[in-house]
Amino acid sequence: MTATRAFAAQSATTPLTHFTINRREPGPKDVKIAIEYCGVCHSDLHTVRGEWSGTKYPCVPGHEIVGKVVAVGPGVSKFKVGDRVGVGCMVDSCGECESCKAGLEQYCYPGNVGTYNGHDKHSGGHTFGGYSTAITVTEHFVLSIPDALPMNAAAPLLCAGITLYSPLKHWHAGPGKRVGIIGLGGLGHMGVKLARAMGAHVVMITTSPEKAADAQKLGAHEVILSTDKAQMKAASKTLDLLMNTVSATHDYNAYQRLLRIDGAQVLLGVPPTDMPPPAVGRFIGNRLTLAGSTIGGIAETQEMLDFCATHNIVSDIEMIRMDQVNDAYERMLKGDVKYRFVIDMATLAA
Ligand code: NAP
Ligand code: ZN
Repeated sequence: MTATRAFAAQSATTPLTHFTINRREPGPKDVKIAIEYCGVCHSDLHTVRGEWSGTKYPCVPGHEIVGKVVAVGPGVSKFKVGDRVGVGCMVDSCGECESCKAGLEQYCYPGNVGTYNGHDKHSGGHTFGGYSTAITVTEHFVLSIPDALPMNAAAPLLCAGITLYSPLKHWHAGPGKRVGIIGLGGLGHMGVKLARAMGAHVVMITTSPEKAADAQKLGAHEVILSTDKAQMKAASKTLDLLMNTVSATHDYNAYQRLLRIDGAQVLLGVPPTDMPPPAVGRFIGNRLTLAGSTIGGIAETQEMLDFCATHNIVSDIEMIRMDQVNDAYERMLKGDVKYRFVIDMATLAA
């Protein structure tokens, strides 16, 4: 075990502060990574503040991790010391169920092991995430970061990127498809870039009028202000697919009117409280689908990173120091981030 610097919340109501965790020495199939950067996902905030049930404290969040390999176990074949690597939202899964065998580790039947707040089968406690200077992960859950991608701006691809890439592919976003992205935050801005690169017609649906110009710069063909009833009405039945990235409790039924016959709305955001029930009439009257999706499998995450390298896609980031993370959470809640905070882990090591 190596004592490792980290930043942790000790309860739902206390700010994150310095904390020391133990990282295991690499076992036969393990890769040890010196973390260079870690993105700040809204899920970190939900978890730290106990907005979802079941947060275990101390809580070290962070699941958009990039860094360099510093040690490998003797059975590791995919990585060597010095490689540029990433870790997303999972660090393990059963490896044996139907989902794992199909490369859908995120849907592991007994449950995947979250990068933080998961059951750590090595320590017997819970897992600690990327707000730390190092992490040890079994090689199957380690991704290669293509050389073409800058490390810091690639970090958010590990969660925000794959969370959009996977459902966009699953629902066949591409030429001839009109795709609406709801919410221009960390996930949403990746959705705009990825859907555009896949060849879809992209429509940004936002509550923030001041984000309209940015949405177009990011690749949206059109912008709808969802708080403007006239704009929502004018866009009725114009879209094939909706990616809902909203982090707050809201009525997703309001967006269903935008869907054409056979359209689908995919829920990606995980608001703290239950959402209202579906407005059944609109669903059955238009043969609509209400769907959900979470991150992506490991092979698909590597495919997404390679797709981003080919299409020159990274996240738009604002770099912060580790000790700015509590302020960053407040700013994220106000929508004051363009469009992902990334922590420079050198500021924790110092
Ligand atoms: P974020 O950067 O804070 O963005 C959320 C966006 O939601 C905001 O920028 C805002 O966009 C919109 N929004 C906020 N409150 C709203 C409201 N009351 N009504 C309508 N829109 C509202 O958060 P994020 O990191 O992208 O994460 C978004 C959600 O996805 C979180 O709940 C997170 O936990 C979840 N998540 C899920 C997965 C998964 O696997 N499914 C993975 C990662 C994250 P506008 O200003 O444009 O309206
Ligand atoms: Zn995330």
